[in-house]
Amino acid sequence: MSEFKQVYLDNNATCMVSPGVRDAMLPFFGELYGNPSSMHNFGGQVAVHVKAAREKVAALLNVSPDEIVFTSCGTESDNHAIRGVLEASPEKRHIVTTKVEHPAVLNVYRFLAKKKGYRVTELEVSKQGDLDLDQLREALTPDTAILSVMAANNETGTLFPIDQIGAIAREKGVIFHTDAVQAVGKIPLDLKKIQCDLLSLSGHKLHTPKGIGALYIRKGTRISPFMIGGHQENGRRAGTENVPYVVALGKACEEAMNDIFDENNRVRKLRDKLEQGLLSVIKQAHINGNPRWRLPNTTNIGFEAVEGEAILLHLSAAGIAASSGSACTSGSLEPSHVLMAMQTPFSYAHGSVRFSLSKFTTEEEIDYTLKVVPTVIQKLREMSPFYDPNK
Ligand SMILES: *Cc1c(COP(=O)(O)O)cnc(C)c1O
Repeated sequence: MSEFKQVYLDNNATCMVSPGVRDAMLPFFGELYGNPSSMHNFGGQVAVHVKAAREKVAALLNVSPDEIVFTSCGTESDNHAIRGVLEASPEKRHIVTTKVEHPAVLNVYRFLAKKKGYRVTELEVSKQGDLDLDQLREALTPDTAILSVMAANNETGTLFPIDQIGAIAREKGVIFHTDAVQAVGKIPLDLKKIQCDLLSLSGHKLHTPKGIGALYIRKGTRISPFMIGGHQENGRRAGTENVPYVVALGKACEEAMNDIFDENNRVRKLRDKLEQGLLSVIKQAHINGNPRWRLPNTTNIGFEAVEGEAILLHLSAAGIAASSGSACTSGSLEPSHVLMAMQTPFSYAHGSVRFSLSKFTTEEEIDYTLKVVPTVIQKLREMSPFYDPNK
């Protein structure tokens, strides 16, 4: 392999646009420029593609197309879900969520607690990053307006049992929102079986360009519109549709649906090869998160006595892109809020690296990574005052 090879193992931060998605978008930068709300032919020609895209997103989740609202990103979907529900039920003043949510959820709740006087319960997780479902059940009260629990953690890949959580929320009569941005397209999600009322997804974690998302709103859910204006999206999200990106999201969901089982097995094998390969040659290294209930594409490994940022710089020099946690929080010297919530030991919380694969990751790239990472760790440990090879 050439030394200039670039290996992208940061797919939980964003993904490459798939060639099929790019091709599907192109006509909408050319002759298909009409406004889908227009009555004339220019509009009608485009409206059929928006409708088809909505059907493809709905099919991936096994829901009805009129339960899908297009948004500008995963963050907007999360904000819409949370703020829309609270506005529709102003008498309820309590919220339940977890300590390991993405900032697009957690920081909204922290804002609402600080500025709007909401009572927010942030559920703890175990050392493996799991929730205690009895604690979750007890936290839900008649005053609880909404429960937000993510489907898959972006940093560790740990999966929460959203089917069981949905059943508990239903039993307690609490609206259940799940941020499934990392789960959609990576694991099958059948919303006929999972009783969530609201589900957020984002295109760029699914091989579309950045700047498109969707919110699933179960029929009958009490929720206010997020953007007020025209009649687009059935009045739930006004603003002329971003047609090329809506089409992209439809195509990406179609591709995910076709690839999901295949890719799940192939990607999982590559992830396991990478993880086992690293753990077998590098001593004093640990998997962060639940090793069993995990996304197939993610591994987060804590290396003792080395700095995550230093590892990333050396990897980057060798052409390998990974991450030391959530992209949004890197730049601060604290370990991520997810690793802190899991009480990850200090000795390797700072030396944790996330590798996230995609359907475009090849075996050759994993083999190359398996050669580079152990040399980098060894080099850094030789310089580290904290490293004790005899431990
Ligand atoms: C990336 C991500 C988001 C935010 O999505 P954007 O489209 O980047 O706004 C929200 N939640 C999770 C779990 C994510 O991984």
